Amino acid sequence: MNTFALTVMMYHYIRDPGDAAGMGSGIAGLPVARFDAQLDDLTRRYEMISWADLRDGLLGSDRGAALPSQACLLTFDDGVRDHYLNAFPALRARNLSGLFFALARTEGDGLALGHKIQLLLARLGPQDLRQAVWSRLTPDRRQAFVWAEERYAASDHAGLVEVAEVEVLKLVLQRELSRDAEGILGELTAKHVGPEAEVADEFYLTQHQVAEMAAEGMHFGGHSRNHPWFDWVGAEGQTQEIEASAAWLRRIDPGPWPFAYPYGGYSAESPALLQAGGFAAAFTTEPKTVHVDPFLIGRMDGELLMADGR
Ligand SMILES: [Zn+2]
Repeated sequence: MNTFALTVMMYHYIRDPGDAAGMGSGIAGLPVARFDAQLDDLTRRYEMISWADLRDGLLGSDRGAALPSQACLLTFDDGVRDHYLNAFPALRARNLSGLFFALARTEGDGLALGHKIQLLLARLGPQDLRQAVWSRLTPDRRQAFVWAEERYAASDHAGLVEVAEVEVLKLVLQRELSRDAEGILGELTAKHVGPEAEVADEFYLTQHQVAEMAAEGMHFGGHSRNHPWFDWVGAEGQTQEIEASAAWLRRIDPGPWPFAYPYGGYSAESPALLQAGGFAAAFTTEPKTVHVDPFLIGRMDGELLMADGR
């Protein structure tokens, strides 16, 4: 395979404290002024490309060679309201196109598990959330919880104890305890955040917003329906999630589409499953700017960039 150079920026929440995108959740994000400054800096240093440019480059005979030498693509994960309220106006003002990886959900659906975790962490903090989950587990599941915690804590080399504790809790709830967590966190969300379907309808893009963004040059890609770790759900689970994304995307774009792995997780079979499902590329969260496999394109996290964009 040919390698190709491409800087792909990855964004999640873009919001200021107290603004409409945050809807009082307390979830922090990249401040809008810093996002604006990054866009200005990136447009000076790179040739900005769209998903359509990349798709044409990847599907051409000399894969990637048709891309500009300093190419940059902007991507946004999770289909959150921030992308309509704060990212879309900033892109439109600069005549830029973004690639938005939205979840294959419809209005009235609840929140993905990962987002319930984020909302509850912002509301309760890691210790109270852990305790609230723990108190609702059977003795068997408490044992599974502790084993999973030990496994992730042992594999952490980050150093900062407080950060590691949150990351361990997230991983346990997203993986080993995900089935238990769906019900328990649904109950906790209703208690501490609000009626889940109503919260979700304010949290995610509406179909109307998606249509407006697509009509103005924004592109959409798949990010699954339930946002599981793809290395955790098996080939059958991945296929269901990929099919859900394809069905959602088909209403907007005939494809082939791009995909972003939820949490950046994937398994050896993920690229082939995506290709079979009508996708032409997939993005990880590994910070790379030279890529070998179009189904394992790395990305740089915009939240980790310095204030001056470097
Ligand atoms: Zn995501």
